[in-house]
Amino acid sequence: MKITGLTTYRKHIDLKDSHKMRSALGVNHGNEFVVIRLHTDEGIDGLGEATITVRWSGEVPAGCEQVLNEVLQPAVIGLEIGDFDELNCRLDAVCSRNWFAKSAIEMACWDALGKAQEKPVYELLGGAVRPLRFESRFSLGAYTEEHARQRAEELVSWGFRTIKVKVGTVPKEDVARVRAVREVIGFDRDLVIDANCGWDVGTAIDCVQQLEDCRLDLVEQPTPDGDYRGMARFRCETGVKVLADDICFDLAHAKELIDHDACDAISVYPGKNGGISRSVEILDYAQKHGVACSIGSNLEWDIAISAMAHLVVAHPNVKVEEYPGDVLGPTYYSERIVSNPVEIMGPYTTTSNGPGLGVGELLIR
Ligand SMILES: [Mg+2]
Repeated sequence: MKITGLTTYRKHIDLKDSHKMRSALGVNHGNEFVVIRLHTDEGIDGLGEATITVRWSGEVPAGCEQVLNEVLQPAVIGLEIGDFDELNCRLDAVCSRNWFAKSAIEMACWDALGKAQEKPVYELLGGAVRPLRFESRFSLGAYTEEHARQRAEELVSWGFRTIKVKVGTVPKEDVARVRAVREVIGFDRDLVIDANCGWDVGTAIDCVQQLEDCRLDLVEQPTPDGDYRGMARFRCETGVKVLADDICFDLAHAKELIDHDACDAISVYPGKNGGISRSVEILDYAQKHGVACSIGSNLEWDIAISAMAHLVVAHPNVKVEEYPGDVLGPTYYSERIVSNPVEIMGPYTTTSNGPGLGVGELLIR
C-alpha cells in the first residue's frame, strides 16, 4: 500500500471557558489544528493531526499546512506504508524540525496500516502492555490563588488523584498557588508542578525549597531550554523528582538529559516528538538507560489523542502508573472531529480497539 497524496484541513477551536489555560507560556484561549487525510493506492485513508501552538513548537497553522502540502507531501508520495525508517528519513531530508507537521503524516500512516491489517495501532506496536483504560492527571493553570482553590476542589470531585499546577510566572504567586492547592487536595493525592521553562535555576531551587512542607511529588521542566546542567543541579539540591518536557523534542535532546543525569523521567508524545515511531526511539533509549517516561500534551484533538493513547498502552516505558500523563486534550473542547472519539471520563482515558487509530470517520470534508 503506497501513499498517493494528502488533503489538509485547518481549524481553530476555542477552549471551553472553564478550561482556559494559563502558564509560563501565556494565556491559551484556543488551539489551532491542521487535520490531514492521507490517501493510498488501495483506497484506504489514514487520519492525522498537527496540534499547533507557536509559543511551544514554533509552528503556525498556515506554515504547517504549507509544509505539509508543498514540502512533505512530495517527499512521501509513492512510499510504502509501514516503512517508518524510510518515512522519517524522507521527512527529515526535506524539512528541519516541524515535529507536529511530521507527526500528522506519520500517525496517518499508522492509521492506514492498522485499517489495512484490521488491527489497532497498539497491536502493530507489539501489543498492549497495560489496560486500555488508564489514568491521567489534570493540569491546573497558573490562576489566582482563589481560582486555583476552586478549581482544585472541582478536580478532586471529578476523581483526579494527581493534580498538576502551572508555575513559572511570578515566584511569590507561584508559591502561594501551589500551597493553596496542596491545602485543598490534602496529602492523599499527588501534587505536581510545571514551570514550562519559566524559572531560572536559582528561582526554581528557591521556590521549591519554600514549598518543602507541601510535598511536591514531581517537578516538571523547572529550568530553561538548554540548561541541562542547571536541571541536574536543581534535582541534586532539592531532592525532588524531575520530569523533562519542553526541552525534549528529539532523541538528541533525550541523550543530553540522560548524559547530564538531569531528570528522573522524560515526557514523550507523538506530536512533540515527530510521530509514534520517533517517540518509540526515545522511549527505548530511555528504557535502556534506566530512565522512565511519561506522556505530555499540547491539548490534542481527537486524532492525535488517539495516537497518544495507543502509545501509552503499547510501550512498557510510558510509566503512567508512576508518572500519570496528560491524555485529556479533547475534554478542553466542545467540538468533535471524528465519528468515534476516544472515550474520556474524568481522569480515565480508554484506548479504542478498532482498526488503526480507531477513531472512525472524519467529520469535516
Ligand atoms: Mg509540560
